[in-house]
Amino acid sequence: MAEHDPLVFKYADIREQGGLNAVLELSPAAYADVFGAPDVLRKLSAELDFSVGGDSVLLEGRVRAELRLECSRCGDPVVRQYEDSFDEVYPDSLEYIDTREVIRETAALLAPIKVLCSEACKGRCPSCGANRNRETCGCRPDKSSPFEALKGLKLKGPEGPGKNSK
Ligand SMILES: [Zn+2]
Ligand SMILES: [Zn+2]
Repeated sequence: MAEHDPLVFKYADIREQGGLNAVLELSPAAYADVFGAPDVLRKLSAELDFSVGGDSVLLEGRVRAELRLECSRCGDPVVRQYEDSFDEVYPDSLEYIDTREVIRETAALLAPIKVLCSEACKGRCPSCGANRNRETCGCRPDKSSPFEALKGLKLKGPEGPGKNSK
């Protein structure tokens, strides 16, 4: 039942206590589906700070996660902490305050689009795939860049109009 979930709070309890502060360690397995791959999320916790207003309860929340991502340049694993905060207002008409959805949504936005193992990451050799941070391969610089290919193209002059028409 929802009321037994640690992320679901009884509105009346929070009101009677004049607020509530909770720090919860969450099971990464329960949130793994939020991320692209099953082993991305390593740790997840939420800090919830409820304060009672006139006819509502305000929640200031913070979600922290340890994520295992891949460097966008070399593909090596990068384990880092990410966190973000959120605010929610719950009206007096509620019996329960269910924070599961907002925590899930906040967690889902934690992963950056791009991560680098280091700003100086040299990436991989496009020819042999060697990780240039760790080894120097013997490959010659890539000559088949798009610009080189363009130089070889001979641009044809425009065919006269009307050649294919009568
Ligand atoms: Zn890298
Ligand atoms: Zn190479």
